[in-house]
Amino acid sequence: MYLKRIEVKGFKSFADKIELDFNGGITAIVGPNGSGKSNISDAIRWVLGEQSAKTLRGAKMEDVIFAGTETRKPLGCAEVSLTIDNSDGIVPIEYTEITVTRRLYRSGESEYLINNTPCRLRDIQEIFMDTGIGKDGYSLIGQGRVDEILSTRSEDRRNLFEEAAGIVKYKTRKLEAERK
Ligand code: ATP
Ligand code: MG
Repeated sequence: MYLKRIEVKGFKSFADKIELDFNGGITAIVGPNGSGKSNISDAIRWVLGEQSAKTLRGAKMEDVIFAGTETRKPLGCAEVSLTIDNSDGIVPIEYTEITVTRRLYRSGESEYLINNTPCRLRDIQEIFMDTGIGKDGYSLIGQGRVDEILSTRSEDRRNLFEEAAGIVKYKTRKLEAERK
């Protein structure tokens, strides 16, 4: 299972559609300050369901939509699609390639899709649970996060090990059952 492709359109500094293909191995994204490197990791976090504008370095969720420049008008919609190669079947659905899409309109309306079929945010969260890919999974380690992991309370550190051990979905289901 690996990140195969990301398509970004109208998200933060990416007014025009960009497509990045990752072909196994290591990919480094380099560029001058302010050129949009962190916006790419924000886009990955966002499409995986991030709900906190602050985590995405904005004040409100609308801030992820291209806000315009001196020469270019703002856009009305942000869209990110992330494609994962699942030929090893680690994500428990029958597709060998999974594309997750999120759209947000300035009106506040939003859409989530799995392989072009509309779904709930919850469906996206569920398929990536215990894979390490989710928005809080260990596959995305932000700046400062390593220190945070090392210095955090043991209970918080435990969450990381539970995700790696693959038991988060059972814990989540148990909590939900208890709430009902
Ligand atoms: P550094 O090397 O300093 O970490 P970086 O390459 O990570 O830089 P980013 O933080 O990804 O840069 O990009 C910042 C740029 O994105 C800024 O120029 C900012 O104006 C632009 N930006 C952020 N949100 C939007 C938006 N909604 N619309 C247009 N531009 C945006
Ligand atoms: Mg940066």
